[in-house]
Amino acid sequence: MTKHVSIDVQLVATGLNCTDRALGYVCVVDEQEQILYSSYVKPHTAITSLFTPHSGITNSEMERGVTEEEAILKVKAILDTDTIIVAQGERDLVKYLKLSKGQDYNDTIELSHWFKHKNYDHKSCKYGYQFWTLEHEVRWLLGIDIQHGVQSPSDRAKYSMQLFNKYKNNQQELPQAQQTCRDHQKDTVPKLFNKSPRFEGVCTGHIGSGYQGVSCDCGQQTRRNQYWAKK
Ligand SMILES: [Zn+2]
Repeated sequence: MTKHVSIDVQLVATGLNCTDRALGYVCVVDEQEQILYSSYVKPHTAITSLFTPHSGITNSEMERGVTEEEAILKVKAILDTDTIIVAQGERDLVKYLKLSKGQDYNDTIELSHWFKHKNYDHKSCKYGYQFWTLEHEVRWLLGIDIQHGVQSPSDRAKYSMQLFNKYKNNQQELPQAQQTCRDHQKDTVPKLFNKSPRFEGVCTGHIGSGYQGVSCDCGQQTRRNQYWAKK
């Protein structure tokens, strides 16, 4: 039987380039918005930044972290080939939890695609669409104000499921939800990583416009570009 879970992962930096990342936290929430698994994950290599204002992870929490192998085993034990994973985006969680479609899970639903706004003026935005942060969607569609790191990191997975539950049987309301996100585009809290190309000395991979093929501050192709290159 098909089951839905939402998963959120937070990454920490293990070097100074934007490609130097490791799993730092994972949370799995069921369709009733209950936590099935939540754990901090301690990378095998030295951490250069926890991105605390963004990830909500502090040093003392990281001390309690399990190994990446243990976290991945626990998550995979929850999933099966009938599981649909709900997430803001699938990129990081599939990569860092080492999940294989068809083997570990059935499919993903990316909320960022549910609420993206089609922009007919392609010059003014990337890829013809405007994408919102989870914080923006939660603020304007659920009426809940969440800030990076202020609340429990498990909230991201819970609110993802709450958004899914609100619209899963009301897909006809998605155009209105997209418009609501768009109407508030100026009211959004600026993302931490948009303010500076580096945080605690680590490249954040944000290069202003973010167009494909542009390499960033640290000389690497950004994670975003690697993603689009695969599509
Ligand atoms: Zn970079």
